[in-house]
Amino acid sequence: MSIADNLLKYKTELDKSGVKLIAVSKYHQASAIQEAYDVGQRVFGENIVQEMVEKESILPKDIDWHLIGHLQTNKVKYIAPFVRLIESVDSLKLLIEINKQATKNKRIIDCLLQIYVADEDTKFGLGYDEAIELLRSQEYSEMKNIKIVGLMGIASNNAQEKQTLDEFMELKVLFDGIKVSFFRKEESFKEISMGMSGDYKLAVEAGSTMVRIGSNIFGKRIIKHYE
Ligand SMILES: *Cc1c(COP(=O)(O)O)cnc(C)c1O
Repeated sequence: MSIADNLLKYKTELDKSGVKLIAVSKYHQASAIQEAYDVGQRVFGENIVQEMVEKESILPKDIDWHLIGHLQTNKVKYIAPFVRLIESVDSLKLLIEINKQATKNKRIIDCLLQIYVADEDTKFGLGYDEAIELLRSQEYSEMKNIKIVGLMGIASNNAQEKQTLDEFMELKVLFDGIKVSFFRKEESFKEISMGMSGDYKLAVEAGSTMVRIGSNIFGKRIIKHYE
């Protein structure tokens, strides 16, 4: 199956459940993204700043770029002019920098708080208490150029289905709690980004609103090293 075929298959399936498809194009060439774009895909996820900046410069301007990987504060400035959603906010320090760079660019940048739900210590993300602490902080209350529109999470690698589903359901419960406590009146707080190629069905079952699918659309990745 071609990239276009794969994409249309997922789009049709996800549209039925009202779930948004983020096509994760990391490590793939701009030509692969163009192929997906040509059949209507507009939202792409990248996890490396340099790669995203390079692709953004040569691809159509109406693409919505989502940053889905760990973001270093010193790199925020490179994506602040164009990024549509930063899905991987994992510290107050990072959020402060995003707000600063968004202000410089006269933009409001949408963000998701990445919540740590996996049973591993290799994944980035905020614990539930840390997320609450961030939302209660004076610094956050004063930010004018960022908007937190939901939560993101990554389930444990190679887990049994039951565990994966439990982790996604845990994220959904956290989302509901945070919604009631902090965003009751804000309609924009509505996204739960969870689910990848191997586990998106379980994520949708647990209430995902956006799934991030890479290899099932673009094929296997060849890992490049930038630094
Ligand atoms: C790479 C990546 C994905 C996509 O993974 P696939 O298994 O290829 O679908 C989704 N989310 C994040 C955060 C990623 O880094």
